[in-house]
Amino acid sequence: MGLLALGTALDWPDAKKQADHVRSWGIRQLLEIWNKAKGKERDAMLWGDEVEYLVVTYSEDDPKVLLSLRQADILAALAGDKDLAKAAHTPNGFAAQLSQPPPVFHPEFGRFMLEATPGKPWGIEFKELLEVEPNMKLRRIIAKEHMRPNEHPITLTTFPTLGSPGVFSSPHYPPSGSRLRSQFVPDEIANPHIRFPTLAANIRSRRGRKVQVNVPVFRDELTPWPWKDPTVNYDLHQWPEDDDVRNGAAPDNFIHMDAMAFGMGSCCLQITFQAKNLTEGRQMYDQLSPLGPIMLALTAATPIYKGFLADTDVRWNQISNAVDDRTPEEMGEKPLVNDRWRIPKSRYASNSTYISEDPRLRPEYLDPDLVIDESIKQQLVDGGMDDRLATHFAHLFIRDPIVIFSEDLQELDLNKTDHFENIQSTNWQHMRFKPPPADNSIGWRVEFRPMEIQITDFENAAFAVFIVLITRVILSYNLNFYIPIKRVDENMETAHARDAVLDRRFYFRRNLFRPSRSSASGASTPTTNPSRPPTPTGPVEDEYRLMSVNEIINGTAYARATKFKTKPQSTSTPETETETDETQDDDTEDEDFFPGLIPLVESYLDSVNIDVQTRCQLARYLDLIRLRASGELCTAARWIRQLVASHPRYARDSVVGEEITRDLVEAVIRVGEGGAEQGGCGGNGKVVGGRGREVRGVRELLGRFL
Ligand code: ADP
Ligand code: MG
Ligand code: MG
Ligand code: MG
Ligand code: MG
Ligand code: MG
Repeated sequence: MGLLALGTALDWPDAKKQADHVRSWGIRQLLEIWNKAKGKERDAMLWGDEVEYLVVTYSEDDPKVLLSLRQADILAALAGDKDLAKAAHTPNGFAAQLSQPPPVFHPEFGRFMLEATPGKPWGIEFKELLEVEPNMKLRRIIAKEHMRPNEHPITLTTFPTLGSPGVFSSPHYPPSGSRLRSQFVPDEIANPHIRFPTLAANIRSRRGRKVQVNVPVFRDELTPWPWKDPTVNYDLHQWPEDDDVRNGAAPDNFIHMDAMAFGMGSCCLQITFQAKNLTEGRQMYDQLSPLGPIMLALTAATPIYKGFLADTDVRWNQISNAVDDRTPEEMGEKPLVNDRWRIPKSRYASNSTYISEDPRLRPEYLDPDLVIDESIKQQLVDGGMDDRLATHFAHLFIRDPIVIFSEDLQELDLNKTDHFENIQSTNWQHMRFKPPPADNSIGWRVEFRPMEIQITDFENAAFAVFIVLITRVILSYNLNFYIPIKRVDENMETAHARDAVLDRRFYFRRNLFRPSRSSASGASTPTTNPSRPPTPTGPVEDEYRLMSVNEIINGTAYARATKFKTKPQSTSTPETETETDETQDDDTEDEDFFPGLIPLVESYLDSVNIDVQTRCQLARYLDLIRLRASGELCTAARWIRQLVASHPRYARDSVVGEEITRDLVEAVIRVGEGGAEQGGCGGNGKVVGGRGREVRGVRELLGRFL
């Protein structure tokens, strides 16, 4: 959105002077939409996914894999292809059944990235859920067809050696550029559209130093300790920001990165829902919020940065740090003199407040210290917005607009939302509440943003469909997932741990059917009375407890049955006993019973009219998620770690070099395209790599779905 605005982008000091201007026009545009759209009713239950790709070069005989920087050429080739509509007739056949127009391809921050969405949003029919996977496969095929023979779209969250010398298809090295001022990546890494380099430069400039993306390194047997990032150059004197590392930006035992590309260059899987009206949209936003960290842990796929194994499994905090524009005053490092607030989080972070007027939302769930712009809130309230939603937007509007085009400041156009979107779309939270566009043509939407992209379209479809189904369950059973928003933040941190899906516990609501625990007697049945009125409430702390992802997804009964059988063995991790809390786990009395999200989805599916074929296919998706949650299958992060650990060139020192990267990317291509070539999973159970070698360990990732 807003991508095509053209004009003169202001550099930071000039942009800062216009920040209040943009905010005040943004608020007027927001109120305009609010007044037009607040009463919108009966919008269709639509949804859509977004899949992001890295474009790599690979060929069987090439000892190197590289990132291709040809995004613009590839998008131009796609846009210029009049036969794209006919691409539905690929030799693979499966695309022919699609009821969809051709997929849509979008640019992304990294010049080595692409994004693809379905040609139109998906509808409410269960049958349509079966079109998602073939559609994702079709997108991959179409993208590939518009690349060079040695270029491939892959769905890996990050390129393992991004930031090492010489990883681009065009030789941009040594890096040096006035916009990023990175010592690891060139400016050419960013999409050349003026918006992107300006975004990166102005974030750096507002912050007063480069962004600092420090990821704890994974300590393997032979990793030197303390570990100093060997790629950091302390002797550069080209930009003032070269001082950052001399001032402690690169602490011991952390992989150090210094540019937006290290975060915004990662790929994710996002799902947007249209609600039937404002109230339902706000309910979906709140109820999906606590699921964010759980789904982040479950989709973990990011164990390598800049050629080193990390001690974390997911991308989230790296993106957060990569776009953190807070000044030292806002971060609390200096007394507040010029800035207005201390701000506890980056503008890319888990969301900080709930927005529904649901009576089950207890005040204790909200953050009493939420930073908001009081005058903006007042304007919204004066304009007729209720207190709670005004609070949400007044929180988003504590941020400055980063990219401002001077031409846009001439005249306020209330038939546009550009100034509102300027702030809204650079608040990257794990949920996004999307108001209708200025023409009011579509409804209130909610976007679920935390999930990591998966290697195959089968997995991406499975996670997309799961989120759709759980949303339907939430609405049908009127489920209550509320926990204090601060606990969601804590869960987000927890989700970063290596193997969090197996080893960590997350705060989660005990009883999804009742407003509070005081009424929780027989918590066991998914059949419910959604119209039950709120009952008296006990202490908030009694409403939730720590649960494993297995308990949350599969339920306590399944979790108890699978827990000790199935943990995938790490070959590189010195397997310290992680099961230190067995007793805690086993003292589950009935009051700790939790039905599990998948059993809830299943009981919902049992209650609706759905044909056998559809039900079977959905069951496969649910199975994948069940097995990932229980550890019977491993996450992409674990699979990648195992691939590295078992590679002959791996020296147990946390270093992921060129050859390992090459073989990893080859495996990812084979696994990702393999599924596509077969027109579905259920091939011969083997994925063959270059020179006929079988790709190792894929069974642990995909099991019988291979
Ligand atoms: P953004 O990048 O701002 O999140 P995109 O336009 O890339 O938005 O994609 C958002 C997703 O929302 C796409 O999958 C698209 O199909 C879907 N979508 C578009 N219109 C609607 C709608 N009215 N309701 C639900 N989803 C929609
Ligand atoms: Mg976008
Ligand atoms: Mg998008
Ligand atoms: Mg995107
Ligand atoms: Mg999106
Ligand atoms: Mg926030």
